[in-house]
Amino acid sequence: MSITDSSPAAAESAADICTISHWIDGAERPSTSGRTAPVFNPATGAVQATVALADQAEIDEALASAQRGFDVWSGYSIARRQAVLFAFRELLNSRKGELAQIITAEHGKVLSDAMGEILRGQEVVELATGFPHLIKGAYSENASTGIDVYSLKQPLGVVGVISPFNFPAMVPMWFFAIAIAAGNSVVVKPSEKDPSSSLWLAQLWKEAGLPDGVFTVLQGDKVAVDGLLESPIVQSISFVGSTPIAQYIYETASKHGKRVQALGGAKNHMLVLPDADLDLVADSAVNAGYGAAGERCMAISVVLAVEPVADELIEKITDRIGKLTIGNGAGQNGAEPDMGPLITDVHRDKVASYVDIAEADGATVVVDGRGLQVDGHEDGFFFGPTLLDHVPTTSRAYTEEIFGPVLSVVRVDSYEEGLELINSGQFGNGTAIFTNDGGAARRFQSEVQVGMIGINVPIPVPVAYHSFGGWKKSLFGDAKAYGVHGFDFFTREKAVTSRWLDPATHGGINLGFPQN
Ligand code: NAD
Repeated sequence: MSITDSSPAAAESAADICTISHWIDGAERPSTSGRTAPVFNPATGAVQATVALADQAEIDEALASAQRGFDVWSGYSIARRQAVLFAFRELLNSRKGELAQIITAEHGKVLSDAMGEILRGQEVVELATGFPHLIKGAYSENASTGIDVYSLKQPLGVVGVISPFNFPAMVPMWFFAIAIAAGNSVVVKPSEKDPSSSLWLAQLWKEAGLPDGVFTVLQGDKVAVDGLLESPIVQSISFVGSTPIAQYIYETASKHGKRVQALGGAKNHMLVLPDADLDLVADSAVNAGYGAAGERCMAISVVLAVEPVADELIEKITDRIGKLTIGNGAGQNGAEPDMGPLITDVHRDKVASYVDIAEADGATVVVDGRGLQVDGHEDGFFFGPTLLDHVPTTSRAYTEEIFGPVLSVVRVDSYEEGLELINSGQFGNGTAIFTNDGGAARRFQSEVQVGMIGINVPIPVPVAYHSFGGWKKSLFGDAKAYGVHGFDFFTREKAVTSRWLDPATHGGINLGFPQN
């Protein structure tokens, strides 16, 4: 494995430290809460800013502004709303390079990967520009004699979006584009680890002509989250993050009478049948296991190798790992590494602890990423690509989400054994089968208990016009993100039964239940 040779980035001095704050009423709103959290540059390990943590007064102010924004925005015609969405899409498309740099500076992922995240979010914005077609309802003329029945899809009001650190731009875009298109106002609570992308997007909405208060950014921690969950102003919650918090969000928001979709963690398996092309499989396993340093909810973390392919596959994956470069995601001397750091030192140590657990439980550490140092970035939160073999399925390293660049190989004797392992797990986000047997792939898509399936595709994130969501502990609630599910989630339907009275169809007095 070669390490990107990089000189030290300019160390952030105390004088440079600014506080990243809220966006309320169409402008940055400095926090007065007196509470902050550090924002690191994961490549250098330095604190580059602090982020404000909202108090109740700031939550109330943000929600009051969002309510006023909704009152204005929901009165805009479809044509006026659509013009703002198109303007936002054009601005995003022309300036996305700025956003990619912000993502890399706070998250650590390499710039091209940050750009990939933006493009997948932009897809949803583009879908949302076509919203008139998706919220137009239906009309049945003469459902009964002289009676027409039709449906109206109306916005919910103020909606809350709570996002994770690993996709600071894409995940908010999964929700806010559709919510705003449908006439709602949105309050985004970004991850406190990389809070700046949402502020940049807020400025873009302003430039696109969105009225003040329709897009609000509330920075914070559990206090801000609970403020959204408990407020009667907030009509729905869209959450993405770890499973324990997703479950808490689902239960608390439901208890407060809100519509809620809460997407949780994952442990995605790749089932490799003996007839698969092992070079394609090895490329895919490396890309999906180590891309974004494994900090993707659709990362592949387990390779289920149906024997006799495991030895050959492990050799091919090991060869590829040896060629990966690890370094500052922003690049060095014009070159971009393959993989950046993890989000924090705490998270890096947690990832390392899972490798320790696997080893203690009897796994073989084929490639060990623990203790990796990157020249010139000795304080960065780096962890090298790690490959484990013979991971016992009873080990916590197998049953729990690691969320780092750790790929575990589990050897199985048959398709059935592999399927049973996937289906017995607590998560059901994504999975993939690699095979040249169409019949086996077809059987897999029918039998596997997982929400998103790849056939020779390792990270099967659905395009914007399909919907994104897992099964089991990967999604609480029944509404997935974006696509038709998104439009259903962010609108409330009314059914209208209408008759224009005339003597011929009136029917006189009849106390019976209406019939056709
Ligand atoms: P996290 O659950 O720690 O945080 C997510 C959000 O919840 C953040 O905004 C955070 O401020 C807030 N939060 C954290 N603790 C809280 C608490 N006790 N009470 C209230 N709010 C709280 O998740 P993360 O570490 O930011 O993100 C990584 C996780 O997200 C992984 O588990 C990953 O699988 C998951 N994820 C899932 C998907 C998906 O689509 N299913 C997508 C991306 C990430």
